[in-house]
Amino acid sequence: MREPQPRKRFAQHWLKSEKALNQIIKAADLSLDRVLEIGPGTGILTRRLLPGAQSVIAVEIDRNLCEKLAQQMGKIDNLLLIQGDILAMDLEEQLAMFPKFQNPNKVVANIPYNITGPIIEKLIGRISSPATKTFDLIVLLVQKEVAERLYAKPGSRAFGALSVRVQYLAECELICDVPAKAFYPPPKVDSAVVRLRPRIIEPPAINPEKLESLIKLGFGSKRKMLRNNLKGIIELDNLTKLLEKLQINPQCRAEDLSVAQWVVLSNNLQVDV
Ligand code: SAH
Repeated sequence: MREPQPRKRFAQHWLKSEKALNQIIKAADLSLDRVLEIGPGTGILTRRLLPGAQSVIAVEIDRNLCEKLAQQMGKIDNLLLIQGDILAMDLEEQLAMFPKFQNPNKVVANIPYNITGPIIEKLIGRISSPATKTFDLIVLLVQKEVAERLYAKPGSRAFGALSVRVQYLAECELICDVPAKAFYPPPKVDSAVVRLRPRIIEPPAINPEKLESLIKLGFGSKRKMLRNNLKGIIELDNLTKLLEKLQINPQCRAEDLSVAQWVVLSNNLQVDV
């Protein structure tokens, strides 16, 4: 069967690299898992997920692709194809009628890059409203620049607000880089496979909304020192004292604080943010 022409509107880039596909499968570490795949496209990754998984739920927005997938793979009994927008969908409600496909515990996907942020938020939630159903493992192919921010370590240039927000909710690691030429058509940017493991950070923020606002404010102007970004909410002297008490260098920039230090700062800051 001829391969469907990729559509720009749905950020369709078909992954062609055997090597990248194998690395994704290896990172997924499958053993009787119930996998959620977002954007199966032509099914190239789906076909590789099926043998190692107990079941695969594949959510695809493109009606034409979904029909093609149903023709080719509709009879496979551990595959559930759902046509729809992953962001708009109440997955639990969709799955209610399918006892065999309850509670997917892993996500493995080559996602549409234009909605990476919203997809990650849908999967792990936000600091102030973590996902109530968490996954054991999330393996995603994303654009490299986003990947770098996801697994960045404090003190590095890439460590930004997104790094703190995501790492508060999940451990993130780089699996491998994937060059643009691994896709058809090649996207404008290089890509990377990342793996997220949702977990509870210790100690958690006493007031998660406050931590969220603090991160936003703290990273407000990246080149400034943290204390300058926060001067609208706390007097400089008081902040310096607090940072010293918490053993944080008062001259630091937002990207120098670890996630744990952001939490400690938020928990000890006696002002509204
Ligand atoms: N997994 C395939 C395709 C990746 S391209 C491969 O590796 O080759 C991204 C896929 O996500 C496309 O098939 C696109 O139609 C689908 N997609 C885009 N937006 C979506 C959304 N909101 N919900 C579900 N699928 C979506």
